Amino acid sequence: MLELLPPPPSDPLWELTAAFAADERPERLDLVLGVYRDSSGRTPVMAAVREAEIRLAERSASKEYRGLSGNAAFNRLLPELVLGSAAPADRAVAVQTVAGSGALRLLADLVARTRPGATVWVSDPAYVNHRPILEAAGLTVRPFGWRDAEGGFDAQGVLRELGAARRGDVVLLQGCCHNPTGVDPAAADWEVLAGRAVRDGWVPFVDLAYHGLGGTLEDDLLGTRLLAARVPEVLVAVSCSKNFGLYNDRTGCALVLGTSRAALRNVETALQNAARTLYSMPPEHGAAVVATILEDEGLRRLWRAELDGMRERITANRAELAARLDALGHPATARELARQRGMFSMLPLPAHAMLRLRREHAVYGTAAGRINIAGLAPHHAPRLARAVAAVLGR
Ligand code: PMP
Repeated sequence: MLELLPPPPSDPLWELTAAFAADERPERLDLVLGVYRDSSGRTPVMAAVREAEIRLAERSASKEYRGLSGNAAFNRLLPELVLGSAAPADRAVAVQTVAGSGALRLLADLVARTRPGATVWVSDPAYVNHRPILEAAGLTVRPFGWRDAEGGFDAQGVLRELGAARRGDVVLLQGCCHNPTGVDPAAADWEVLAGRAVRDGWVPFVDLAYHGLGGTLEDDLLGTRLLAARVPEVLVAVSCSKNFGLYNDRTGCALVLGTSRAALRNVETALQNAARTLYSMPPEHGAAVVATILEDEGLRRLWRAELDGMRERITANRAELAARLDALGHPATARELARQRGMFSMLPLPAHAMLRLRREHAVYGTAAGRINIAGLAPHHAPRLARAVAAVLGR
């Protein structure tokens, strides 16, 4: 049987990671995957997480099955954190998922069950898994541009292209720290987008994976909250992988806002049914950690302070890289980089230049030019800037 399997497409990101692992140059620099690293290159367990884990271990909770929706306290507290006062709790249904990816898939399934074959508009460029996840659920993907010629958010272009979205279409928007570009809408752009969603009847589907890493949590959640307050139906996929550092605990939440209680009850059952056929129940540990942090004032403060520290480091890394590129005679690239937000930056380099960066300078970013700014240690910045400048030429 197995020989019938056609060769599957390979995953370019994991291929790069494997190439990095096989690279023997001591100066090699891995800026591929979106993982936060501290100045010594480690991805630490956050102190708030560690403390929550100790408390959970002391309580020695049972490992009994949870329901299909996962951890109830998590499903109450995480939406409160994300939505603030933007939407009352009785407008929302939350189901714990296998991280942000699981939330994206469950919500895609929900859309497919509601409107089979529905069109989902996705930014171009997009997070590499958006299209595959949506298509795996049977949805039709239509791209819309995201950046303008100067590398900023293309507000006019986005509105023009989304003008073709029909009532009932879904528009996938990253809530902050757009992956891969680092380019986000401003507050005024979110207002206009919310108005268009209401006027034209499309449903915003927000992907939140980096809140707190571009600006404060409140800054980064502004767009999501605005949509939640103005638009009757909103889908939100929340990942706790980055901002709680729970990458391998696979912690996330599918959040659905609606206006009809009866419809929301159906939504919850539909999400549970989708989960049952995919993986049954989500893993408890990460969700219990997040709930323990969010329900304790002290742990919540500690977590926020750590998150602020991570963001400050990322922001300083980006500023340092931009300043060095400026000093090396590339002011336009420096300005473009300096405006970007969150873990990633997009270098204005084509695939062949990214290949040169890898071959000649042992710097690994994606073929599209994305680098993980959070993966830099302070002493890397000068070398990275010199390598980028060399590849950019003059
Ligand atoms: N959305 C975006 C934009 C992402 O970049 C990622 C992870 N890199 C995810 C969702 C999913 O993250 P996870 O499944 O690890 O929570």
